[in-house]
Amino acid sequence: MVHPMRENGQFLSLNEIREWRKQQMIAGQPNDLLDYYRIHDICMRCGGLGTVFTYLGGASKPSGTTICPSCQGTCHWTETK
Ligand SMILES: [Zn+2]
Repeated sequence: MVHPMRENGQFLSLNEIREWRKQQMIAGQPNDLLDYYRIHDICMRCGGLGTVFTYLGGASKPSGTTICPSCQGTCHWTETK
């Protein structure tokens, strides 16, 4: 589960995202979760956290966290996969 952050550092709720997607759909606008991240300038890889979990040797549980390689910890949207 991802927790996109607002600019003031507060986390968005999943309900808020769902509501946004519903409004976008009604308006005939792009409403994918990725669209949400892109439009709100949130990194899709880390979900605005700035860090991602690291997994060693295909382990099922994360061994720790590291700076997000997509946004370099800035939490901003990047086109990088
Ligand atoms: Zn990131």
